[in-house]
Amino acid sequence: MSRAFDVGLESLAAVGGAALSALAANPPAAHIRESSLETPPPSDSGKAFFIETFGCQMNDHDSEKVSGVLLGRGYRAVESPAQADLVLYNTCSIREKAAQKVFARLGDWKTTSSGKIIGVLGCLAQQEGEEIFERAPWVSLVCGSASYRRLPELIAELESGGRRVTGLDLDTDETFETEITRRDNPFRAYLTIIEGCDYACAYCVVPHTRGPERSRSSDSVLAEVRRLADAGYTEIQLLGQTVNSYRDPSPRKWNFVDLLRAVADIPGIRRVRFTTSHPNDFTREIVEAIDSTPALCDHIHLPVQTGSTRVLSAMRRTYTREQYLEKVEWIRAARRPISLTTDIIIGFPGETESDFEETLSLLTAIQSDGVFAFKYSPRPNTPARDWPDAIPEGEKGRRLAILQEHQRRIQIANNELLVAKEFEVLVDAHHAARDQWAGRTTSNRIVNFTSPRSSLLGEYVQARITRGGPNSLVGEQLL
Ligand code: SF4
Repeated sequence: MSRAFDVGLESLAAVGGAALSALAANPPAAHIRESSLETPPPSDSGKAFFIETFGCQMNDHDSEKVSGVLLGRGYRAVESPAQADLVLYNTCSIREKAAQKVFARLGDWKTTSSGKIIGVLGCLAQQEGEEIFERAPWVSLVCGSASYRRLPELIAELESGGRRVTGLDLDTDETFETEITRRDNPFRAYLTIIEGCDYACAYCVVPHTRGPERSRSSDSVLAEVRRLADAGYTEIQLLGQTVNSYRDPSPRKWNFVDLLRAVADIPGIRRVRFTTSHPNDFTREIVEAIDSTPALCDHIHLPVQTGSTRVLSAMRRTYTREQYLEKVEWIRAARRPISLTTDIIIGFPGETESDFEETLSLLTAIQSDGVFAFKYSPRPNTPARDWPDAIPEGEKGRRLAILQEHQRRIQIANNELLVAKEFEVLVDAHHAARDQWAGRTTSNRIVNFTSPRSSLLGEYVQARITRGGPNSLVGEQLL
C-alpha cells in the first residue's frame, strides 16, 4: 500500500531498493559534496560495477558501503548491468517473493554472463549459501552481510582469477565499516549503528542471515556524523534491526539515548531519525530525549506485529499487548506530538478471527500514523516455518484488505486534523507535472506543496497544510 512513511526495517519492506549506480550519471548536489570528501574521483580503469538492492534500508545502506569498497578499489559505477564487469545483487529473503525475484534476476545471466563476475550479497546469500552456485553456476561470489568486512579480500581473489568465493561466517563480533561510503540519498544520510539481532522472533530470518547483535563504537559513529555534517548533510538516520538495543562497546559504555543526544548535538545536524525500535528495549528515556531535544525527530517506528498477546507469545516477541500499549501511552503523553508508525504481520499460524480483531482494536487504540502490513509467509531457517494451523492465502488476503481499509480511515481522520497547521519541510522532490514540491516533516509526514519559488531542493521551508489525504498532506509554502 502507498504510505506516508518509508520506514519499516523490522518488517523489511517490499522488494525494490535503489540501484546505486543509477545516480552515477546525474548525482544530486549533496551527493557531489559527499563524493568530494569521501569518494575518490571516478576511475578511468576498465572495471565497472552495477549493484541492485532489494529489501530494507539496512540493505540500501550496506550497498552504499559496498559501493564505497569498490570505488576505493578503482571500480566505477555504471547505470546498467550490461555495462558492468561486476554485477552484484544485494538481496532480501524476508519474504518468498523477494527471494524469487533475485533468482529471476540471476536467471537472466544464464547464457549471457560470459566475461562478467556475478555476485549475490545479503540475506539470500547467507540463507542459501553455496546452494546458489548449484542453482546458478554462473555466480562467482556469495557473501552474507556478517562477512562484508571480508569483501575486499574476496574481490581481490576474484580479480586474481578465483572462480568461486564465499563469505558466509556468522560468528563475528565486528561491524562493517569502510573508509569510503557512496551516499545515494542526497538529503538524508544513513548510518548503521548496530548490526545483527539477538532476538529470536519465530517468523524472522534475520538472526540467521545477519548474525548476532554487534554495536559500533560511539567514537566511530560520532566521527562519521561529523564527516557527514561537514559534507553538508543535515539529516541523519541511525539504522539497526533493533536500533534501540544499541550498547556502546567502547569503555564509554553509552546506551542508545546517550548516543542519540550526542549525535543530535553535532553542529550542522538538524534532524536525527532512527529505525527500527524493538518494543522490549523501548524506554521512557527515549521519549524524554525527543521531548527535550529539537533535533531528534518526533517520529517513532515501533513494530507491534499483532494486537493479540496470544499471537505475540507464539511469535516470541517478548512483550504483551498491554506492555506495548503502555509504551504508546508514554509516546502520547509527550509534550511534543510524536507520530507513531508500526508493522503488522497478518495470518501468523494459528491467528484466529478474534486475534485479528484484537489487531484492529489495537490500531484504533494507538491511532498509528502509518502501518506496514504484510501477509505472513513461512521462511527457511525460522522456527515457525512448519508450524501447523497455517492460514489459507485467501483468508490472509481478506484480513489484509480489511486492515488496510481500517487503517486508511484512521489516517484520513488524523491527517484532516492537520489542516491549517504549519510544518517545517525538508524538500526532497519536485513533481513537474503537478508543479508541486514534496518533502518530509520532522514527524516524517510527506507534504506536497505549491510554491512560487523555482528552486527548493534540499531546503527547509515552512508549509501550511490545506488538505489531508490518507498517505500524505497537501499544502502551500509560507513565505
Ligand atoms: S528476530 Fe525479531 S527483533 Fe530480530 S530482526 Fe527479526 S523481527 Fe526484528
